[in-house]
Amino acid sequence: MAAYFQVFRNSKIGIVLTLSLIFTTAAASPSAYFPEKLSLLLKTLTGSDRLVNPHCIDNPFCAFNDWVNAFLFSDAVKADVMARLGPAGAHYFLTYVRDLVAGSVLYYLTAGLWHTYVYQWHGDYFFTQQGFEKPSAATIKDQIQLAQTSMFLYAALPVLAEWLVESGWTQCYYYVEEIGGWPYYLAFTLLYLAMVEVGVYWMHRTLHENKVLYKYIHGLHHKYNKPSTLSPWASVAFNPIDGILQASPYVICLFLVPCHYLTHVAMVFFTAVWATNIHDAMDGNTEPVMGSKYHTMHHTHYHYNFGQFFIFADWMFGTLRVPEPRAAKAVLSPGVVPSSGVRTTGKSGRGKMD
Ligand SMILES: [Zn+2]
Ligand SMILES: [Zn+2]
Repeated sequence: MAAYFQVFRNSKIGIVLTLSLIFTTAAASPSAYFPEKLSLLLKTLTGSDRLVNPHCIDNPFCAFNDWVNAFLFSDAVKADVMARLGPAGAHYFLTYVRDLVAGSVLYYLTAGLWHTYVYQWHGDYFFTQQGFEKPSAATIKDQIQLAQTSMFLYAALPVLAEWLVESGWTQCYYYVEEIGGWPYYLAFTLLYLAMVEVGVYWMHRTLHENKVLYKYIHGLHHKYNKPSTLSPWASVAFNPIDGILQASPYVICLFLVPCHYLTHVAMVFFTAVWATNIHDAMDGNTEPVMGSKYHTMHHTHYHYNFGQFFIFADWMFGTLRVPEPRAAKAVLSPGVVPSSGVRTTGKSGRGKMD
């Protein structure tokens, strides 16, 4: 286990495998989840025909979302909300609640698992033996409070995206045949991913370079400005406007490039998982993937490494700064900055988290 972890942590293999798994799943989803099949699955699982929202008839995007909602809301609840808000109002209200619940569950699950892994199971290896300080319980509590509060607004963005897609205003498609088959699916998906990467880069960079945006919006996330104040719980600990702005390229690019709807959804979910990863202050080599050592440097140095998944946007636009490997097992005095400039370490402060 330790040997596997060493490989995972210090090479690209783990990250590449993880990414491949995500994209294989995303790529497989278009053929596996047609609404009819989903309805059949739900019937198999629940033993009943669900109440279909009339707003979603003949709209595969809407039918998919209506189907997902059925896992969270009973027919009685749905009928009651429809009576109060009408079919369309009920659909988007229930979708909002669903996104809020799903976003929160994903956050606690991912950050919780990450926390257990890096602090509880491997805390000695990652922190104590290296002489690095763990984040304090107070820091983590602050991050959870900020993330959970902002989640109420974050959940509105996917609802907006779903409404735009369901209304037919974007270039989103549901069936791979609509764009000519799998080679086009692959090409457009890669193009969408690349455009989102550049979009997130410029949005993030603008949030730094515009003094008003930085002071009132993005600066809040940068109060976590040392490795010891970063943790998986900081993944979505932003001012809510900040989180929405940084995620907005996922929606904007739907107007520019044909993207499969479920692939778009999978990518948005994956971004939340990814944000957990890049805030863990680990420093394995993951290039050309923008691993957490780059984002740690972004938090400590501000003007570099604005990218999300890959280093190519920073490289193209001149803001890439490659962190040097940290000095292994160097226990430094508090406040001493190692030559790499990446970590400021003190004696291990493991007490609070164990
Ligand atoms: Zn930033
Ligand atoms: Zn960050």
